Amino acid sequence: MPANFKAELVGCFGQPVAENPTGAMQEAAFAALGLNWRYLTVEVAPEKLCDAIRGVRAFGMRGVNLTIPHKVAVMEHLDRIAPDAATIGAVNTVRRDGDRLIGENTDGKGFLRGVRANAGIDPKGKRVVVLGAGGAARAILTELALAGAADLLVVNRSIPRGETMAADLAAKTGAPIRFEPWRGTYTVPEAADLLVNATSIGLYPDVDAMPPVDLRAAHPGMLVCDAVFNPPETRLLAAARRQGLPVLDGLAMLVYQGVIGFELWTGRKAPEAVMAQALRAALGLAPDSGAKAFE
Ligand code: NDP
Repeated sequence: MPANFKAELVGCFGQPVAENPTGAMQEAAFAALGLNWRYLTVEVAPEKLCDAIRGVRAFGMRGVNLTIPHKVAVMEHLDRIAPDAATIGAVNTVRRDGDRLIGENTDGKGFLRGVRANAGIDPKGKRVVVLGAGGAARAILTELALAGAADLLVVNRSIPRGETMAADLAAKTGAPIRFEPWRGTYTVPEAADLLVNATSIGLYPDVDAMPPVDLRAAHPGMLVCDAVFNPPETRLLAAARRQGLPVLDGLAMLVYQGVIGFELWTGRKAPEAVMAQALRAALGLAPDSGAKAFE
């Protein structure tokens, strides 16, 4: 066979982007499968996004991830938007289909895969409380709605934001999505099967912050999930553990959105344990604890 020195290219566009650890996870996966692929972490200013996507086309790149501030703005530069990404209203992953660039959103799918694979729970028929109404909440709610959750309650500090999102997603998915304003401490009802923190409360450097929730009424099987991945052990998860409740950290969501992206781009089964360990190493975390779920 003749030598082939041409690498396949994927990457991430954002601003700021230097601290985004996804490249370490994807490059480890390429190496593990012996693929001559490269993941480029590229700083792209908002006014240069159009040119950057032209670059994706010109270089024949196989796909890109989008992060802040490009997840919504990128949509007008693509050829097609996948239905769930259209419902979410944001794209975090672009994949190539021939000459066409397709917009996908793997954030909510990554969350769902963590719930199923790491926590062993099928969201179908479940009653869910989601704290927050930003981009992460929207992606998580959309996928939970499409997966057949029985009841979805959005609890958010800003009433207009929470109300508008709940009404919009209910109309688009046909799922029972309700809204409740977050006033003082929110008491999680006994009927809830899943509680998801999709706010940025507890995110580094504000690691001592705890969403004002009272977990005491929760039933013993309620899964407590946090979208915050830095640090993975948030105060919310620590409180849930102390009460004996099962937990799912934000690293699972982050790893699985990368796993799904890898599979969309390469068509190969992703080496999940390799990706989880590479991500932990990139974030300066110990290699073993927590990554067992991926083996
Ligand atoms: P947004 O800025 O879009 O939304 C932030 C949400 O947090 C809003 O609902 C906001 O409420 C709420 N919030 C922030 N501070 C407070 C507070 N003090 N009290 C009450 N509510 C508060 O952020 P994203 O949705 O993009 O991200 C949310 C979190 O999810 C971040 O920590 C992010 O790192 C994480 N994330 C994790 C991913 C993963 O793969 N693990 C993927 C994507 C995001 P309000 O509307 O009232 O302002």
